[in-house]
Amino acid sequence: MIGNPLVEAAYLVAAICFILSLMWMSHPSTSRRGVFVGEFGMLLAIVGTLLLKEVVDYKLIAAALLLGSAIGVPLAYMMPMTAIPQRTAISHSLGALAVALIGVVEMTKLAAAGAALSFASAALGFEMLLGFLTCTASVLAFAKLQELVPTRPMIFKGQQALNLVVFLAAVSCAVVLALHPQSGPLLIAFVALSALFGLMLVAPIGGADMPTVIALLNSYAGLAASAMGFALSNKLLIITGALDGASGFILAVIMCKAMNRSFANVMFGGFGQVVEGAGAGGEARPVRSASQEDAALMLENAASVVIVPGYGMAVAQAQHKVSELYQTLQNKGVDVRFAIHPVAGRMPGHMNVLLAEANIPYERLIEMDEINGDLPTTDVALIIGANDVVNPAARDDPKSAIAGMPIIEADRAKAVMVIKRSMKPGFAGIENDLYYLDKTHMLFGDAKDFVAGMVKELAGGSGMH
Ligand code: NDP
Repeated sequence: MIGNPLVEAAYLVAAICFILSLMWMSHPSTSRRGVFVGEFGMLLAIVGTLLLKEVVDYKLIAAALLLGSAIGVPLAYMMPMTAIPQRTAISHSLGALAVALIGVVEMTKLAAAGAALSFASAALGFEMLLGFLTCTASVLAFAKLQELVPTRPMIFKGQQALNLVVFLAAVSCAVVLALHPQSGPLLIAFVALSALFGLMLVAPIGGADMPTVIALLNSYAGLAASAMGFALSNKLLIITGALDGASGFILAVIMCKAMNRSFANVMFGGFGQVVEGAGAGGEARPVRSASQEDAALMLENAASVVIVPGYGMAVAQAQHKVSELYQTLQNKGVDVRFAIHPVAGRMPGHMNVLLAEANIPYERLIEMDEINGDLPTTDVALIIGANDVVNPAARDDPKSAIAGMPIIEADRAKAVMVIKRSMKPGFAGIENDLYYLDKTHMLFGDAKDFVAGMVKELAGGSGMH
């Protein structure tokens, strides 16, 4: 299909760029270079594709380019860092939809030509199944991440059996379509079943498992694109799809390990999840709260403080004030370190990026496993906008929706302080018993304002050390 040597050359260099990009992006010191090389590769891939003789109308392509850029460029500039997962989810859904729709067109062409079973028809069946399910699964993941629908697992009786039936029905349609390509009711039923399965796959998955799901959907979108490459005999699509599929899969496995989740569970839609009865909005229980002045005094009198940052610190953009707090306490002789949970915030490495931006020395950021051993001897654990990642239910309650997820064991510190605005639950939508412990003080307010207030108190205070 590809005969033009210019196109072949552009595709070859693009493929090399993508491989180098992945390699470089896997380390912080080379990641920027990785992004630029990946972008350059994508430019070459697009230019190469525009040179293909199959292109019939450049005007339509130009119009699509303008429209896409008009939406994409402002989206990229205006999107806050905290919303990257949902932006990624919506990109996956659009990419997968494009792949799936091309699959429908190709299948219709095969049907019109009266084609029989071929490698292309089998690849198209696989590609459409993955494409449509990834599209709807990503839309639901987007809605959960944007909190347009409840982030808690949606679970009902007989769900696993129903999931299996829908999946098998979709696969059966794909097999029949591969054997006898057709464009009638069977194709429509296949599209509907694949799309429905995507929704059913993500519905039972709770907010806390969303990072893994996004990585997995990334992998599915890549595999669908690769299958499309086989159907269209486009080598670059095969390579890029395989790279995307493999890297997404590896990331999903790494995330599962970090979150202590079984890979099969996430892959087949949270099979076997048990949901805790108590959720947001249960009966009101008393908590102890403290003012900025009290909190500053407790910190000043501590010998060791571990700060646990979370999503709320990112939303409030409190990292620079937190850096001032760190400096002030260090100057007063308090040992301050930061506990980093692998999925704190809304993307892997989110806290590292924010704290580095605020010039907090990298050696003060301690990974979860290492800091947990030190928490029982820590005077104060100061939690700033974190919730799920410090929820003891994950460790203590096997019925909890986040059971088994590793946590920063802030509840083992001698005293706990929590900055957040209300008693609302975190992303997983479940209550946090840490807030009700005798040793916990709730510091109600916006993270940035509250920390700024404490820094002010400390600057004006007497200083015990
Ligand atoms: P959570 O989302 O569990 O909790 C954040 C807390 O911050 C909320 O309880 C909220 O309480 C508080 N908050 C929000 N805004 C502010 C503000 N302006 N000032 C002070 N507090 C604020 O965050 P965690 O970091 O503990 O956990 C991350 C969760 O996100 C996990 O469930 C994880 O699985 C999931 N996730 C992680 C991704 C990743 O890759 N890192 C990607 C997608 C999801 P209140 O409203 O009362 O202020």
